[in-house]
Amino acid sequence: MVLQCRTCSKYIHPPRPVCRFCLSLDLAPSEVSGRASLYTWTVSEHAFHPFFADKLPYVYATVELVEQPGLRLITNIIECPLSDLRIEMPLEVSFRELAPEFTVPMFRPMP
Ligand SMILES: [Zn+2]
Repeated sequence: MVLQCRTCSKYIHPPRPVCRFCLSLDLAPSEVSGRASLYTWTVSEHAFHPFFADKLPYVYATVELVEQPGLRLITNIIECPLSDLRIEMPLEVSFRELAPEFTVPMFRPMP
């Protein structure tokens, strides 16, 4: 789900109380496809918190959702060898439960 303006239909992420395109206050969550492309990434080789110690290296990325140019979010790329990463590669969402009641959207290459 991504916040969407009911007046101009643009998606708003990160969420805000006002549409940045038309200033409407009529916003509501809307389901998106879960498809995206890789905008940019970096590979983290160091655990800045003990939680990440057994997850190294991991890919910290910005992806652009297919619903709207510029609709980007920060996430992780999973199930992808580092050597396969390419700008604009097609991705699909994969929800991962990191802790009870804490599930996050990550992205993996499209099959
Ligand atoms: Zn709007």
